[in-house]
Amino acid sequence: MSATNQPNTRPTGPLWLLAELTYRCPLHCVFCYNPVDYKTNTHELSTAEWKETMKQARALGAVQLGFSGGEPLLREDLEELVAYGHELGYYTNLITSGIGLKPARLDALKAAGLDHIQVSFQDATQAANDALSDTKTFAKKLEIATAVKAAGWPMVLNVVLHRLNLDHIDSIIELAVKLGVEYLELANTQYYGWAFKNKAALIPTHEQLKHAEARVAAWREKLGNSMKLLFVVPDYFEKNPKPCMSGWGNVFLSISPDGTALPCQAARMLPGFEFPNVKTSTVEHIWYESDGFTRYRGDAWMKDPCRTCPDKAKDYGGCRCQAYLITGDATQADPVCHKSPAHEKVIAFVDAAQRRDNPDDYLKVQKPEQQALANTAEVPVVWYRSDHNSLHLSKQGS
Ligand code: SF4
Ligand code: SF4
Repeated sequence: MSATNQPNTRPTGPLWLLAELTYRCPLHCVFCYNPVDYKTNTHELSTAEWKETMKQARALGAVQLGFSGGEPLLREDLEELVAYGHELGYYTNLITSGIGLKPARLDALKAAGLDHIQVSFQDATQAANDALSDTKTFAKKLEIATAVKAAGWPMVLNVVLHRLNLDHIDSIIELAVKLGVEYLELANTQYYGWAFKNKAALIPTHEQLKHAEARVAAWREKLGNSMKLLFVVPDYFEKNPKPCMSGWGNVFLSISPDGTALPCQAARMLPGFEFPNVKTSTVEHIWYESDGFTRYRGDAWMKDPCRTCPDKAKDYGGCRCQAYLITGDATQADPVCHKSPAHEKVIAFVDAAQRRDNPDDYLKVQKPEQQALANTAEVPVVWYRSDHNSLHLSKQGS
Protein backbone atom coordinates (compact mmCIF):
# COMPACT_ATOMS: atom_id res chain seq x y z
CA MET A 1 0.00 0.00 0.00
CA SER A 2 1.36 3.43 -0.83
CA ALA A 3 1.99 5.73 2.12
CA THR A 4 0.09 8.56 0.45
CA ASN A 5 -2.73 7.66 -1.84
CA GLN A 6 -2.53 9.96 -4.82
CA PRO A 7 -5.89 11.38 -5.92
CA ASN A 8 -5.97 9.46 -9.18
CA THR A 9 -4.80 6.14 -7.77
CA ARG A 10 -7.42 3.76 -6.44
CA PRO A 11 -6.41 3.11 -2.83
CA THR A 12 -6.33 -0.34 -1.36
CA GLY A 13 -9.30 -1.44 0.72
CA PRO A 14 -9.56 -1.19 4.50
CA LEU A 15 -7.41 -3.52 6.62
CA TRP A 16 -9.12 -2.84 9.94
CA LEU A 17 -12.84 -3.01 10.59
CA LEU A 18 -13.88 -1.67 13.98
CA ALA A 19 -17.45 -2.62 14.90
CA GLU A 20 -18.64 -0.28 17.63
CA LEU A 21 -21.59 -2.47 18.47
CA THR A 22 -23.24 -0.16 21.00
CA TYR A 23 -22.67 3.08 22.89
CA ARG A 24 -24.33 1.51 25.97
CA CYS A 25 -21.91 0.82 28.81
CA PRO A 26 -22.24 0.05 32.52
CA LEU A 27 -19.19 2.20 33.28
CA HIS A 28 -18.88 5.98 33.34
CA CYS A 29 -15.21 6.58 32.58
CA VAL A 30 -14.01 10.16 32.73
CA PHE A 31 -11.84 9.62 29.63
CA CYS A 32 -14.38 7.75 27.50
CA TYR A 33 -13.74 8.22 23.79
CA ASN A 34 -17.42 7.88 22.85
CA PRO A 35 -19.19 11.06 21.68
CA VAL A 36 -20.27 13.31 24.58
CA ASP A 37 -23.79 13.35 23.11
CA TYR A 38 -23.94 9.58 22.57
CA LYS A 39 -27.34 9.37 24.26
CA THR A 40 -28.93 11.29 21.39
CA ASN A 41 -28.08 8.32 19.17
CA THR A 42 -29.44 5.07 20.56
CA HIS A 43 -30.25 3.21 17.34
CA GLU A 44 -28.20 0.03 16.78
CA LEU A 45 -27.69 -2.10 13.69
CA SER A 46 -29.39 -5.50 13.70
CA THR A 47 -27.43 -8.75 13.70
CA ALA A 48 -28.10 -9.20 9.98
CA GLU A 49 -26.90 -5.66 9.20
CA TRP A 50 -23.65 -6.21 11.12
CA LYS A 51 -23.07 -9.49 9.32
CA GLU A 52 -23.61 -7.91 5.92
CA THR A 53 -21.19 -5.11 6.79
CA MET A 54 -18.56 -7.60 7.96
CA LYS A 55 -18.99 -9.61 4.76
CA GLN A 56 -18.62 -6.58 2.50
CA ALA A 57 -15.57 -5.22 4.37
CA ARG A 58 -13.90 -8.64 4.21
CA ALA A 59 -14.52 -8.77 0.47
CA LEU A 60 -12.63 -5.45 0.17
CA GLY A 61 -9.67 -6.96 2.02
CA ALA A 62 -10.22 -6.21 5.73
CA VAL A 63 -8.42 -8.77 7.89
CA GLN A 64 -8.72 -7.46 11.46
CA LEU A 65 -12.10 -7.17 13.13
CA GLY A 66 -12.45 -5.41 16.47
CA PHE A 67 -15.65 -5.52 18.52
CA SER A 68 -15.92 -2.53 20.81
CA GLY A 69 -18.41 0.01 22.09
CA GLY A 70 -19.52 1.15 24.67
CA GLU A 71 -19.50 -2.31 26.11
CA PRO A 72 -19.85 -4.91 23.33
CA LEU A 73 -20.87 -7.60 25.85
CA LEU A 74 -24.21 -5.82 26.15
CA ARG A 75 -25.07 -7.15 22.70
CA GLU A 76 -26.65 -10.57 23.11
CA ASP A 77 -25.63 -11.47 19.57
CA LEU A 78 -21.91 -10.91 20.24
CA GLU A 79 -21.06 -14.62 20.08
CA GLU A 80 -22.98 -14.98 16.81
CA LEU A 81 -21.14 -12.01 15.31
CA VAL A 82 -17.77 -13.33 16.48
CA ALA A 83 -18.53 -16.74 14.97
CA TYR A 84 -19.48 -15.11 11.67
CA GLY A 85 -16.32 -12.96 11.68
CA HIS A 86 -14.24 -16.08 12.34
CA GLU A 87 -15.98 -17.96 9.52
CA LEU A 88 -15.20 -15.07 7.15
CA GLY A 89 -11.51 -15.41 8.03
CA TYR A 90 -11.04 -12.30 10.17
CA TYR A 91 -8.63 -12.10 13.13
CA THR A 92 -11.16 -11.14 15.81
CA ASN A 93 -10.55 -8.98 18.86
CA LEU A 94 -12.89 -8.11 21.73
CA ILE A 95 -12.24 -4.77 23.44
CA THR A 96 -14.10 -4.86 26.73
CA SER A 97 -14.34 -3.50 30.26
CA GLY A 98 -14.93 -7.15 31.20
CA ILE A 99 -18.20 -6.37 33.00
CA GLY A 100 -20.66 -9.07 31.98
CA LEU A 101 -18.01 -11.57 30.94
CA LYS A 102 -19.14 -14.63 32.91
CA PRO A 103 -17.30 -17.99 32.54
CA ALA A 104 -20.11 -19.40 30.37
CA ARG A 105 -19.81 -16.46 28.02
CA LEU A 106 -16.06 -16.87 27.86
CA ASP A 107 -16.59 -20.49 26.82
CA ALA A 108 -19.09 -19.44 24.18
CA LEU A 109 -16.72 -16.82 22.79
CA LYS A 110 -13.95 -19.37 22.65
CA ALA A 111 -16.21 -21.79 20.81
CA ALA A 112 -17.12 -18.96 18.40
CA GLY A 113 -13.44 -18.62 17.51
CA LEU A 114 -12.56 -15.33 19.20
CA ASP A 115 -8.81 -14.76 18.79
CA HIS A 116 -8.03 -12.02 21.27
CA ILE A 117 -9.48 -10.24 24.33
CA GLN A 118 -8.39 -6.91 25.71
CA VAL A 119 -9.69 -6.13 29.21
CA SER A 120 -9.43 -2.65 30.63
CA PHE A 121 -8.75 -1.50 34.18
CA GLN A 122 -8.98 2.13 35.24
CA ASP A 123 -6.33 1.84 37.99
CA ALA A 124 -4.67 -0.68 40.31
CA THR A 125 -6.74 -0.22 43.45
CA GLN A 126 -10.42 -0.56 44.15
CA ALA A 127 -10.73 3.05 45.34
CA ALA A 128 -9.05 4.59 42.29
CA ASN A 129 -10.55 2.20 39.72
CA ASP A 130 -14.04 2.73 41.05
CA ALA A 131 -13.68 6.51 41.37
CA LEU A 132 -12.51 6.89 37.77
CA SER A 133 -15.38 4.80 36.40
CA ASP A 134 -17.97 5.93 39.00
CA THR A 135 -18.87 2.28 39.55
CA LYS A 136 -18.00 -0.53 41.94
CA THR A 137 -16.35 -2.78 39.39
CA PHE A 138 -12.78 -3.43 40.50
CA ALA A 139 -13.44 -6.75 42.25
CA LYS A 140 -15.45 -8.01 39.26
CA LYS A 141 -12.67 -7.01 36.89
CA LEU A 142 -10.13 -8.97 38.92
CA GLU A 143 -12.35 -12.06 38.73
CA ILE A 144 -12.81 -11.65 34.99
CA ALA A 145 -9.15 -11.06 34.22
CA THR A 146 -8.30 -14.22 36.14
CA ALA A 147 -10.96 -16.17 34.24
CA VAL A 148 -9.72 -14.91 30.85
CA LYS A 149 -6.24 -16.08 31.73
CA ALA A 150 -7.51 -19.43 32.98
CA ALA A 151 -9.41 -19.93 29.72
CA GLY A 152 -6.10 -19.84 27.88
CA TRP A 153 -6.23 -16.50 26.09
CA PRO A 154 -3.12 -14.37 26.03
CA MET A 155 -3.88 -11.74 28.64
CA VAL A 156 -3.97 -8.23 27.25
CA LEU A 157 -4.60 -5.52 29.81
CA ASN A 158 -5.33 -1.93 28.88
CA VAL A 159 -5.06 0.97 31.30
CA VAL A 160 -5.73 4.52 30.12
CA LEU A 161 -3.22 6.85 31.78
CA HIS A 162 -3.70 10.48 32.79
CA ARG A 163 -3.00 12.93 35.58
CA LEU A 164 -5.24 11.08 38.06
CA ASN A 165 -3.46 7.72 37.82
CA LEU A 166 0.02 8.24 36.32
CA ASP A 167 1.58 8.34 39.79
CA HIS A 168 0.27 4.79 40.37
CA ILE A 169 2.33 3.39 37.50
CA ASP A 170 4.24 0.94 39.71
CA SER A 171 1.11 -0.52 41.27
CA ILE A 172 -0.54 -0.77 37.84
CA ILE A 173 2.42 -2.78 36.49
CA GLU A 174 2.50 -4.87 39.69
CA LEU A 175 -1.18 -5.70 39.17
CA ALA A 176 -0.44 -6.80 35.60
CA VAL A 177 2.41 -9.01 36.86
CA LYS A 178 0.13 -10.52 39.51
CA LEU A 179 -2.50 -11.33 36.89
CA GLY A 180 0.07 -12.98 34.63
CA VAL A 181 -0.52 -10.54 31.81
CA GLU A 182 1.47 -11.07 28.62
CA TYR A 183 0.83 -7.60 27.21
CA LEU A 184 0.17 -4.37 29.09
CA GLU A 185 -1.01 -1.41 27.08
CA LEU A 186 -0.40 1.79 29.03
CA ALA A 187 -2.42 4.07 26.82
CA ASN A 188 -1.92 7.73 27.55
CA THR A 189 -5.21 9.55 27.14
CA GLN A 190 -6.14 10.85 23.72
CA TYR A 191 -8.16 14.04 24.14
CA TYR A 192 -11.39 13.35 22.30
CA GLY A 193 -14.95 12.83 23.50
CA TRP A 194 -15.24 12.87 27.29
CA ALA A 195 -11.48 13.15 27.68
CA PHE A 196 -11.46 16.45 25.76
CA LYS A 197 -14.28 17.68 27.98
CA ASN A 198 -12.23 16.66 31.03
CA LYS A 199 -8.82 17.70 29.76
CA ALA A 200 -8.28 20.19 32.58
CA ALA A 201 -8.44 17.29 35.03
CA LEU A 202 -6.62 14.73 32.90
CA ILE A 203 -3.58 16.41 31.32
CA PRO A 204 -0.59 15.32 33.41
CA THR A 205 2.46 17.30 34.44
CA HIS A 206 5.84 16.93 32.75
CA GLU A 207 7.19 15.48 35.98
CA GLN A 208 4.49 12.81 36.14
CA LEU A 209 5.21 11.73 32.58
CA LYS A 210 8.96 11.70 33.07
CA HIS A 211 8.62 9.64 36.21
CA ALA A 212 6.21 7.18 34.54
CA GLU A 213 8.49 6.76 31.51
CA ALA A 214 11.46 6.03 33.77
CA ARG A 215 9.47 3.49 35.78
CA VAL A 216 8.27 1.76 32.61
CA ALA A 217 11.87 1.54 31.36
CA ALA A 218 12.97 0.02 34.70
CA TRP A 219 10.13 -2.51 34.63
CA ARG A 220 10.92 -3.44 31.02
CA GLU A 221 14.43 -4.32 32.08
CA LYS A 222 13.23 -6.29 35.08
CA LEU A 223 10.49 -8.22 33.26
CA GLY A 224 12.41 -8.98 30.08
CA ASN A 225 10.28 -10.92 27.62
CA SER A 226 7.77 -12.17 30.18
CA MET A 227 5.51 -9.15 29.65
CA LYS A 228 5.42 -6.58 26.85
CA LEU A 229 4.85 -3.01 28.02
CA LEU A 230 3.49 -0.47 25.56
CA PHE A 231 3.78 3.16 26.65
CA VAL A 232 3.24 5.99 24.18
CA VAL A 233 3.81 9.62 25.19
CA PRO A 234 0.57 11.61 24.89
CA ASP A 235 0.19 13.77 21.79
CA TYR A 236 0.09 17.08 23.63
CA PHE A 237 3.64 16.51 24.88
CA GLU A 238 5.08 15.90 21.43
CA LYS A 239 6.37 18.35 18.82
CA ASN A 240 5.30 16.26 15.86
CA PRO A 241 1.90 14.71 15.38
CA LYS A 242 1.28 11.01 15.13
CA PRO A 243 0.23 9.53 11.78
CA CYS A 244 -3.38 9.45 12.86
CA MET A 245 -5.13 6.22 11.79
CA SER A 246 -2.20 5.72 9.37
CA GLY A 247 -3.90 8.29 7.19
CA TRP A 248 -7.53 9.24 6.63
CA GLY A 249 -9.41 6.47 4.83
CA ASN A 250 -6.17 4.57 4.36
CA VAL A 251 -6.50 1.39 6.45
CA PHE A 252 -9.19 1.96 9.09
CA LEU A 253 -12.96 1.67 8.80
CA SER A 254 -15.04 2.28 11.91
CA ILE A 255 -18.75 1.56 12.01
CA SER A 256 -20.78 3.31 14.74
CA PRO A 257 -23.63 1.51 16.50
CA ASP A 258 -26.22 3.04 14.14
CA GLY A 259 -24.25 2.09 11.01
CA THR A 260 -22.55 5.42 10.36
CA ALA A 261 -19.19 4.72 8.72
CA LEU A 262 -16.26 6.80 9.94
CA PRO A 263 -12.53 7.01 9.12
CA CYS A 264 -11.97 7.08 12.91
CA GLN A 265 -14.29 6.81 15.90
CA ALA A 266 -13.96 10.48 16.80
CA ALA A 267 -14.72 11.88 13.32
CA ARG A 268 -18.45 11.94 13.91
CA MET A 269 -18.27 15.38 15.53
CA LEU A 270 -16.65 17.04 12.50
CA PRO A 271 -19.09 19.57 11.05
CA GLY A 272 -19.81 19.84 7.33
CA PHE A 273 -19.83 16.09 6.77
CA GLU A 274 -22.65 13.73 6.06
CA PHE A 275 -20.92 10.50 6.88
CA PRO A 276 -22.36 7.56 4.96
CA ASN A 277 -24.29 4.72 6.58
CA VAL A 278 -24.03 1.02 5.84
CA LYS A 279 -27.84 0.85 5.85
CA THR A 280 -27.99 2.96 2.69
CA SER A 281 -24.59 2.55 1.00
CA THR A 282 -22.36 -0.39 0.22
CA VAL A 283 -19.03 -0.58 2.01
CA GLU A 284 -17.33 -0.36 -1.38
CA HIS A 285 -19.10 2.93 -2.16
CA ILE A 286 -18.36 4.22 1.33
CA TRP A 287 -14.66 3.44 1.08
CA TYR A 288 -13.95 4.53 -2.49
CA GLU A 289 -16.55 7.17 -3.30
CA SER A 290 -18.03 8.84 -0.24
CA ASP A 291 -17.02 12.37 0.70
CA GLY A 292 -16.60 11.17 4.30
CA PHE A 293 -13.74 8.85 3.31
CA THR A 294 -12.16 10.68 0.39
CA ARG A 295 -12.10 14.32 1.51
CA TYR A 296 -8.87 14.04 3.54
CA ARG A 297 -7.38 11.01 1.83
CA GLY A 298 -3.93 11.62 0.34
CA ASP A 299 -2.53 15.16 0.53
CA ALA A 300 -4.41 17.22 -2.07
CA TRP A 301 -6.58 18.80 0.67
CA MET A 302 -3.64 20.10 2.72
CA LYS A 303 -2.88 23.75 3.33
CA ASP A 304 0.45 25.12 4.41
CA PRO A 305 2.42 24.36 6.52
CA CYS A 306 1.56 20.73 5.66
CA ARG A 307 1.27 21.19 1.88
CA THR A 308 4.96 22.03 1.47
CA CYS A 309 6.25 20.00 4.42
CA PRO A 310 8.63 17.07 3.78
CA ASP A 311 7.03 15.16 6.66
CA LYS A 312 3.54 15.01 5.19
CA ALA A 313 4.09 11.49 3.84
CA LYS A 314 5.04 10.35 7.35
CA ASP A 315 2.29 11.87 9.48
CA TYR A 316 -0.47 12.81 6.98
CA GLY A 317 -0.76 16.21 8.70
CA GLY A 318 -1.73 14.52 11.98
CA CYS A 319 -5.26 14.22 13.28
CA ARG A 320 -8.19 16.00 11.61
CA CYS A 321 -10.33 15.74 14.76
CA GLN A 322 -7.62 17.27 16.95
CA ALA A 323 -7.20 20.06 14.38
CA TYR A 324 -10.94 20.76 14.52
CA LEU A 325 -11.29 20.51 18.30
CA ILE A 326 -8.45 22.98 18.91
CA THR A 327 -8.64 25.35 15.91
CA GLY A 328 -12.25 24.94 14.75
CA ASP A 329 -10.94 23.99 11.28
CA ALA A 330 -10.35 20.34 10.37
CA THR A 331 -8.13 21.27 7.39
CA GLN A 332 -5.44 22.86 9.56
CA ALA A 333 -2.23 21.08 10.55
CA ASP A 334 -2.66 19.13 13.75
CA PRO A 335 -1.88 21.76 16.46
CA VAL A 336 0.39 19.23 18.17
CA CYS A 337 2.85 20.06 15.35
CA HIS A 338 5.39 22.74 16.25
CA LYS A 339 4.92 24.22 12.76
CA SER A 340 1.19 24.75 13.29
CA PRO A 341 0.13 28.36 13.96
CA ALA A 342 -2.12 26.93 16.71
CA HIS A 343 0.64 24.97 18.47
CA GLU A 344 0.69 27.59 21.23
CA LYS A 345 -2.81 26.46 22.25
CA VAL A 346 -1.51 22.96 22.97
CA ILE A 347 1.39 24.44 24.91
CA ALA A 348 -1.13 26.52 26.88
CA PHE A 349 -3.16 23.37 27.78
CA VAL A 350 0.00 21.66 29.00
CA ASP A 351 1.30 24.73 30.85
CA ALA A 352 -2.02 25.18 32.63
CA ALA A 353 -1.81 21.56 33.80
CA GLN A 354 1.54 22.27 35.51
CA ARG A 355 -0.07 24.89 37.72
CA ARG A 356 -3.08 22.94 38.97
CA ASP A 357 -3.65 21.80 42.53
CA ASN A 358 -4.10 18.35 43.94
CA PRO A 359 -5.53 16.09 41.21
CA ASP A 360 -7.66 14.24 43.75
CA ASP A 361 -9.80 17.39 44.11
CA TYR A 362 -11.28 16.70 40.69
CA LEU A 363 -12.94 13.54 41.87
CA LYS A 364 -14.67 15.21 44.80
CA VAL A 365 -17.28 16.86 42.59
CA GLN A 366 -18.98 13.95 40.95
CA LYS A 367 -22.71 14.07 40.61
CA PRO A 368 -24.60 15.95 37.89
CA GLU A 369 -26.14 18.49 40.26
CA GLN A 370 -22.74 19.21 41.82
CA GLN A 371 -21.16 19.45 38.40
CA ALA A 372 -23.68 22.09 37.35
CA LEU A 373 -22.75 24.12 40.44
CA ALA A 374 -19.06 23.54 39.88
CA ASN A 375 -19.22 25.10 36.43
CA THR A 376 -20.32 28.40 37.91
CA ALA A 377 -18.40 28.25 41.18
CA GLU A 378 -15.01 27.52 39.60
CA VAL A 379 -14.73 24.28 41.52
CA PRO A 380 -12.65 21.64 39.73
CA VAL A 381 -14.88 19.14 38.02
CA VAL A 382 -14.84 15.96 35.99
CA TRP A 383 -17.72 15.04 33.76
CA TYR A 384 -18.52 11.38 34.18
CA ARG A 385 -19.73 9.76 31.03
CA SER A 386 -23.38 9.04 31.83
CA ASP A 387 -26.72 9.20 30.09
CA HIS A 388 -27.72 12.25 32.11
CA ASN A 389 -24.53 14.15 31.32
CA SER A 390 -24.68 13.13 27.67
CA LEU A 391 -28.14 14.65 27.28
CA HIS A 392 -27.13 17.72 29.26
CA LEU A 393 -24.05 18.29 27.12
CA SER A 394 -25.89 17.68 23.87
CA LYS A 395 -28.33 20.47 24.86
CA GLN A 396 -25.37 22.78 25.36
CA GLY A 397 -24.18 21.85 21.88
CA SER A 398 -20.91 20.63 23.35
S1 SF4 B 1 -14.12 4.06 28.15
FE1 SF4 B 1 -15.27 3.33 29.94
S2 SF4 B 1 -17.32 4.26 29.73
FE2 SF4 B 1 -16.30 4.42 27.71
S3 SF4 B 1 -16.95 2.61 26.62
FE3 SF4 B 1 -15.01 2.10 27.61
S4 SF4 B 1 -15.57 1.16 29.59
FE4 SF4 B 1 -17.38 2.23 28.79
S1 SF4 C 1 3.49 20.74 9.04
FE1 SF4 C 1 1.92 19.18 8.70
S2 SF4 C 1 2.96 17.54 7.58
FE2 SF4 C 1 4.57 18.85 8.47
S3 SF4 C 1 5.10 17.89 10.41
FE3 SF4 C 1 3.49 19.42 10.84
S4 SF4 C 1 1.54 18.30 10.71
FE4 SF4 C 1 3.12 17.01 9.74
